[in-house]
Amino acid sequence: MDYTSAFRDPALCRGLLERLARALDAGGGKPLRFMEVCGTHTVAIFQSGLRALLPPSVTHLSGPGCPVCVTHDAEVAMFLNLAERDSVRIATFGDLLRVPGPDGRTLKHALAAGARVDIIYSPLDALRLAAGHPGETVVFLGIGFETTAPTVAGAMLMARQQGLKNFTVLSFHKLVPPALRALLEDPECAVDAFLLPGHVSTILGLEPYRFLAGEYRTPGVVAGFDPADILLALCLMAEQRRDDAPAVVNAYRRAVDDNGNPRARAVLEQVFRPADALWRGIGRIPASGLTIAPDFADMDAMRRLDLVLPEVKPIPGCKCGEVLKGKRAPDACPLFGKTCTPANPVGPCMVSTEGSCAAYYKYHLEG
Ligand code: SF4
Repeated sequence: MDYTSAFRDPALCRGLLERLARALDAGGGKPLRFMEVCGTHTVAIFQSGLRALLPPSVTHLSGPGCPVCVTHDAEVAMFLNLAERDSVRIATFGDLLRVPGPDGRTLKHALAAGARVDIIYSPLDALRLAAGHPGETVVFLGIGFETTAPTVAGAMLMARQQGLKNFTVLSFHKLVPPALRALLEDPECAVDAFLLPGHVSTILGLEPYRFLAGEYRTPGVVAGFDPADILLALCLMAEQRRDDAPAVVNAYRRAVDDNGNPRARAVLEQVFRPADALWRGIGRIPASGLTIAPDFADMDAMRRLDLVLPEVKPIPGCKCGEVLKGKRAPDACPLFGKTCTPANPVGPCMVSTEGSCAAYYKYHLEG
């Protein structure tokens, strides 16, 4: 099978749209508000034009699936303060460079002012930086979900093997299933079904999502990123609601095993421990983050550099928190497209290409 075009085939997509319409009709025309919790899904849905093709009773909500966007204001303030320290070198993925802290400062500003900030493309690049700068403490900014965290854990194991003493990780990693539970616990939650993240699910498999259907009677469908993948997932959600039979199912079998990736999870469990974490707009969610295990304390930037999360105020006027919970569309933020644009982002949802506000701006406004 040609995996690059088969799942974008217009005839296949038309057939799936008809199947979706039939399932919605047979379900009494009830609205289907589905939320995706993956930045790649956010972009795929906008970029493919699917939003414009969906039946009027289907509403797309973007959830807390963009790693940069969910990084809390206090976490941003912490790494901005850290960048000002002597003998610290920050290693970060490029997206974080433009995320504004509570006072509007970014790592880019810090870099311009002389801070040691390096953009990397893999955690292994951070190991190389540490080896090349033995007089500095290299701090890798660990953000992202279950997909990214195993690669960071692998880098930490390699650092130990290589005897690197100056490589550390500031772990702000987040876990998806506890965030879904937090969203569903909100009395104002308007989500009828979840489009579950394909990448994260390659690690987790289906088991950690079972509570969606079991405890909250909410369908959850693991989906790929092509239009036919997403439409098939919507069909399955609508059919589950038609039949009053919510379930968690895998509609991305070409990439996701129902059992996930046990080896990647084993590496995660060796290096990290679940811990409460702060999410932008949602707040503290129990056991929704990863802290570094005691055996790896020498690589834990929090302990090694005596870091404490500062008390900060949210960015004035920015509604990212509500956008991330699906309670407000990006263009319902008063700053959208005015003071906040991709060229001059006020909040993180406008920074990352995977952020809801940036995707909305690029594909909806610029069209
Ligand atoms: S438009 Fe800008 S300020 Fe408003 S929610 Fe989005 S990122 Fe935040």
